[in-house]
Amino acid sequence: MTPLEIDLFPCRSDNFGVLLHDPVTGATASIDAPEEKPIRDALARRGWTLSHIFTTHHHNDHVEANLALKDRFGVTIIGPARETIPGIDRKVDGGDSFDFAGRPVEVILTPGHTAGHICFHLPGERLLFAADTLFALGCGRLFEGTPAQMWQSLEKLAALPEETIVYFGHEYTLSNARFAITVDPDNAALASRVAEIESLRAAGAFTAPTTIGLEKATNPFLRAADPAIRRHLRMEKASDAEVFAEIRARKDRF
Ligand SMILES: [Zn+2]
Repeated sequence: MTPLEIDLFPCRSDNFGVLLHDPVTGATASIDAPEEKPIRDALARRGWTLSHIFTTHHHNDHVEANLALKDRFGVTIIGPARETIPGIDRKVDGGDSFDFAGRPVEVILTPGHTAGHICFHLPGERLLFAADTLFALGCGRLFEGTPAQMWQSLEKLAALPEETIVYFGHEYTLSNARFAITVDPDNAALASRVAEIESLRAAGAFTAPTTIGLEKATNPFLRAADPAIRRHLRMEKASDAEVFAEIRARKDRF
């Protein structure tokens, strides 16, 4: 199969726009719709016509352009069954799967950031669109879910193959990196990643995408079971979900 093409570009102050394009059929999906103009500009630059929006959750900075893009292109909007999404055509829930350009897209329910947040996984392409559940070196804030729910959601993503390429919703990586080293100061892989992120950002480059393997090695929010982090937090006997909750609470205060 001809590989799908991906276009990544900035939207709003720190959101990512992502377009997923099949060169054979012309099908083009926008992962969320944070802002109309940059999405239309990216489509025009590539000569692509939007056919789908895959919505991950209801926050305005992920759905603001849904109706405008639907008006303009007549797109099909596929989004979370448990949330209210502008212009939604097809509601999907965890465990569902649908077709995009002849490829299965699996829906993973990841409550925590919002109550009905979903991620889109293309197993054949080894691609995950994690939006505001998993960031490079971070995870979404818990607006509607409990730490235990978010931990369970992150465990589902961590169980995907390590080579899975992960696109995420926001360029928060530099501040995430500065926090990560405070809870995992002796992690050599993290230290070298922080240096790499500092030089990427200094050059104005994106830190997306990442991979599941890289996040498991360096993202403290996936490393609640790690003995060194537990020792550092003096939480050797706590459950993984409790360690995760402590890391999330520290990040909220950071
Ligand atoms: Zn959000």
